[in-house]
Amino acid sequence: MGTAAERREELKAVWRQAQACTRCPQLAAARQTVVFGSGNADADLMFVGEAPGANEDKHGLPFVGQAGRLLDTLLEEIGLQRTDTFICNVLKCRPPGNRDPLPQEIDACQDYLFRQLELIEPRVVCTLGNFSTKLLRGDPTGITRLHGREEVRRIGPRRVRLYPIYHPAAALYTPKMLELLRDDFRRLPGLLALDPPEQPEPEPELVVPEPEIVEETEREPESAAQLGLF
Ligand code: URA
Repeated sequence: MGTAAERREELKAVWRQAQACTRCPQLAAARQTVVFGSGNADADLMFVGEAPGANEDKHGLPFVGQAGRLLDTLLEEIGLQRTDTFICNVLKCRPPGNRDPLPQEIDACQDYLFRQLELIEPRVVCTLGNFSTKLLRGDPTGITRLHGREEVRRIGPRRVRLYPIYHPAAALYTPKMLELLRDDFRRLPGLLALDPPEQPEPEPELVVPEPEIVEETEREPESAAQLGLF
């Protein structure tokens, strides 16, 4: 789709568009910032969470609260830093009171996520919890059944390795869940080392037939009024 620098420029344009977004009037009115996502715009590994919380809304960055610190720790344990990855959410604005994202908000916001996936071109997309897993798989199967199982999925124009895991917030106070999350994290370096998924053939360019040239002498005279110009 272009060089990393070209894709990054395009990502900045999407960022600018998101900053002014009012598709969800309630979220737009209540937000302090639009939390677009952060990290390496050419990352092989992308994390997709649910929605910004109060800390994220304040700082304009994803996963900067307690769940974010756990994410950093888990990344460190596998030899990665968040700057090696790109981290974002299904919703770019905080739902008031940290309520769940509404279906119409997910619908309204999803274009931003699909553009991010298209422009960053990750090989592995790690969905954190139910909301991102269900959206990117286009299926209501929950995280309990799916966590830790990677699958190659086509998302928009590209194929990626989709890897659902539990949301770090779910592991904060439940040691058993933390162990499961840790186990699933340990598989990430192996997934990143696999060959990238084979990409679909690019769509053939639409060939628009040249209009037939009608000889001047054969053409009915047309006036600007007939053409509706003035
Ligand atoms: N939880 C999320 O899903 N995303 C964040 O950015 C922070 C907490």
